[in-house]
Amino acid sequence: MKDLAIVLGIRPDVIRASKILKLLENQNEINFDFIWSGQHYSENMKDVFFNQLNVPKPDFEFNVDKSNDSTIVSSTIQNLFSHFETYKYKAVVFLGDTNTVMGSIAAAQHNIPVVHIEGCMRSYDWRMPEEKYRTVIDHLSDRIYAYLDDYKKQGLKEGISEDIIKVTGNPIVDIINENKQFFESGASYLDNEVINLSKDKFALVTCHRRENILNEESFKEITSLLNSIDDINVIFPIGYKTQEILKNSNIVLNNNIKLIDPIGYLEFMYLLKKADYVATDSGTVVEEACILNVPSIQMRYSTERPEVYDVKASVKFDPTADDNNYGQVIDKVNILKRGWKNPFGDGNSSQVIVNDLIELSKSDNFRKHKPLDYSFDTSRSFKE
Ligand code: UDP
Repeated sequence: MKDLAIVLGIRPDVIRASKILKLLENQNEINFDFIWSGQHYSENMKDVFFNQLNVPKPDFEFNVDKSNDSTIVSSTIQNLFSHFETYKYKAVVFLGDTNTVMGSIAAAQHNIPVVHIEGCMRSYDWRMPEEKYRTVIDHLSDRIYAYLDDYKKQGLKEGISEDIIKVTGNPIVDIINENKQFFESGASYLDNEVINLSKDKFALVTCHRRENILNEESFKEITSLLNSIDDINVIFPIGYKTQEILKNSNIVLNNNIKLIDPIGYLEFMYLLKKADYVATDSGTVVEEACILNVPSIQMRYSTERPEVYDVKASVKFDPTADDNNYGQVIDKVNILKRGWKNPFGDGNSSQVIVNDLIELSKSDNFRKHKPLDYSFDTSRSFKE
């Protein structure tokens, strides 16, 4: 039996967990398998991050049926279910709120303890599949790593037991600290046109969320906002699904907006650090911008990261509103004052998580605590 399996499957997973994987690889107290679900698979959505961040290669790599969300989830459950029949683990670790974390159902079916990194984050926006996924996995978990005290409080309010929630800080801070000396080298992978654009003032953009790109009205609002940025250039590494939606629409973007395929982590961070501001619907990018002291426009109706508003690092743009004043949003982001305090932790989160995983694995104590904290009397369930 191995101690742990760590299951990841998309671009931000490998970035955020890169230090956790390296720390686990470089210790001798417990053993683990790294499993890649196969949700992201291409060179620039997967391999480039393994290479740039020196992440150990997965021990097991699955293929999923990518027809739609249900096939991704069901093939992940099937792949993991069969895998867990052959390979036994004391616990299985998942991260985040993606189709891949729904593979935790397979661990639950085998009754293997589930560990959830990024637990208890909530947007309280029940229209988001991600909100449903993270609620499900938190309630399947035997151990939860919550990044911030406020997230832990959210979990407690749902009846999750205090015993199983550990506050760790956000590991994305660790990744920035570890790699910021290399961000400059990202320039060497970008083409000359992009480098030249980045010498002047520019805004960086990302947009991939299904509620934004699959909703025609919201997508129009977002592209109208981008078309209102008429004083500086815009560099937009645009995901493949968003490219497809744009191509099939009659939306025309202004000439100052430069569309490029998704880029590597170092290229992206090189641009982010230099940008006047970023307009994004990404959960991770809004954190990274806040940590690097780059103002952001968060193009989302709701967020599970309200800290970026609390510290005045970000301006909200609601793509579901029909009375948006684009110019006002751009004016607001332009007057944000850099110098806010990073609210996401001290950069030691990966080590805290790994230390706890080692301790729990060695003592085989993943089930030491009760996962739910019922405020009503449950004892009669155990009596005759
Ligand atoms: N990113 C990147 N290249 C790009 C766009 C983003 O390396 O072209 C990185 C970015 O620095 C962040 C992560 O990918 O670490 C964000 O991924 P995404 O927005 O897809 O996911 P989310 O955080 O919304 O789940």
